[in-house]
Amino acid sequence: MNCVKNKMDDKLIKILNQVEKPARYIGNELNTVLKDIDKVDCHLVFAFPDMYEIGMSFLGLEILYNIINKDENLYCERVFAPGMDMEEKLIEEKYELFSLETKTPIKKADVLGFTLQYEMTYTTILSMLKLGNIPLLAKDRGIEYPIVIGGGPCAFNPEPIADFFDVILIGDGEIQLPSVLNTIGKFKKADKTKDEILEELAKIDGVYVPKFYDIEYADNGTILDIKTNNSNAQLPVLRAFIENIDELEFPTKKIVPFIEVVHDRAVIETFRGCTRGCRFCQAGMIYRPVRERSVETIKKLAALQLDNSGHSEISLLSLSTSDYSEFENLALDLISDCKSRNVSLSLPSLRLDSFSFKVLEEIQGYKKSGLTFAPEAGTQRLRDVVNKGITESDIYDAVEQAITLGWKKIKFYFMIGLPTETYEDLDGIAEIARKVMDISKSINGKGGKFNITVSVANFVPKCGTPFQWFPQNSNEEFIEKHNYLSSKLKMKGVKFNYHDSATSIVEGVLAKGDRRLAKTILEAHKLGCTFDGWSEHFSKEKWDEAFKNTNMSKEFYAEREFGRNEILPWDIIDSGVSKDFLLKEYDKALEASITKDCRHGCTNCGINKYVECKQGGIYE
Ligand code: SF4
Repeated sequence: MNCVKNKMDDKLIKILNQVEKPARYIGNELNTVLKDIDKVDCHLVFAFPDMYEIGMSFLGLEILYNIINKDENLYCERVFAPGMDMEEKLIEEKYELFSLETKTPIKKADVLGFTLQYEMTYTTILSMLKLGNIPLLAKDRGIEYPIVIGGGPCAFNPEPIADFFDVILIGDGEIQLPSVLNTIGKFKKADKTKDEILEELAKIDGVYVPKFYDIEYADNGTILDIKTNNSNAQLPVLRAFIENIDELEFPTKKIVPFIEVVHDRAVIETFRGCTRGCRFCQAGMIYRPVRERSVETIKKLAALQLDNSGHSEISLLSLSTSDYSEFENLALDLISDCKSRNVSLSLPSLRLDSFSFKVLEEIQGYKKSGLTFAPEAGTQRLRDVVNKGITESDIYDAVEQAITLGWKKIKFYFMIGLPTETYEDLDGIAEIARKVMDISKSINGKGGKFNITVSVANFVPKCGTPFQWFPQNSNEEFIEKHNYLSSKLKMKGVKFNYHDSATSIVEGVLAKGDRRLAKTILEAHKLGCTFDGWSEHFSKEKWDEAFKNTNMSKEFYAEREFGRNEILPWDIIDSGVSKDFLLKEYDKALEASITKDCRHGCTNCGINKYVECKQGGIYE
């Protein structure tokens, strides 16, 4: 009998009495699942490479936790990156990192699965492996260690971390992951070797086994060739698709944390994918095509989640909430149910051009939460370059509606460092802020209480997008633009904030890097880098030292224009969107020429070669 009780030994209790927020490590929350590890074929520990409060807000974890644990042959537990204080105690006490549900050392699991949401978590992944006493490099791990797998958006260019992983999963995980785990369970039971297991896994759609590929480099540092060294390896590895998400299992019993987490609410994914075609947006490309859940399904799931959790807020999640084909009906139906439960409905990422006045009016009637708009660029020319598809009048009409309805604060998201950007475009950001304040004065009068936040991110070109070839701004260029905007946005009622540029540069390198960066990540880890996504923990000095010590150049990956015929590190992976389409979109961007939303007619991104596009051309 291997532990259905959630036991804590005395040593752990002693440690927990000395650290901040011990509830991060005790598990046993409402709706957690306890199983007997000896009674399942495959035991997965789902590892989130950041703090509990962040990881517990990640819907992907809930979805996979629910699906895996529905299978009696499989068991999924959780582990999060421990806080710095806990990490110190674990090292001090030589106490190995453990799973939350059964307190099992993570090195005892059959599979350790990391979600790859953000490049700046790579060093935290290495910290967790080290705390688990698991060798960092895949080549140093035998069958006695867990098979280490990774999945998520960063898996579309896993090359910088390929040496640390045995398997990378590409695409929709709900069907793929259970099939991978059942295969591992079956082969482990049959005492197969690790290589035999990896060869079998390489046959599954969307499964990439890095050790089965050899990369050759040219003298100028670019990739000369990518070859497979195992007959089971696919090249490229096509992403796994799920055609109809409406039939998929979806969590109705969300785990209810003991402590406050970043997003402490019920969440329903209304649809996956997006048809808009913004050229900077990786999610808008790698999750195509759009697949919707029906209104009935969403309402049923929402009611069950609220019944089983007692949450006082529910959120509709997708890449562009107001693009849901029956958005207004759905939102208005949910609002009346929420009102009767005294629960608030939050609608993140409302697009300025499909802004529902009616829904807004209903929501503002009882519980009003913050409002965010994302114009992304300050001028129409640059919005066309990035194919955002919104106009000046979309922006000001939506602002006028919101202010008329009583909103007193609005947040605006922009990016800097975009292709073809000039200082005129930065002036455009200041111009939008000025005009919004003028609109507020015209509606609320001079004394009216109203303020806006202008939040600027540094553009990081990502793989699988039309901008994947584009060179990122240098750290100095970003700093210059931050200073310029700070001076331009000195206005009453306007708050300006921006992201740290040094972090964005490292993110840019890891987003477009190749396998040779593994040694730099390892070096950064040895120098103490971890939680690099947190400004209080990120160290530009340590990363600079890591690049120097490993003789690697940031500029080669982030600030160099990649050649159009160059073999890209991520050419091993096929997202389904064709390279031709991406190149055409890149060329159109340089001419500020827009591509319509493919609901108004297919624009041939290539996805329909693999899966039916139900949304394509629906508004034709
Ligand atoms: S194949 Fe056409 S309809 Fe389908 S996602 Fe691509 S552009 Fe849109």
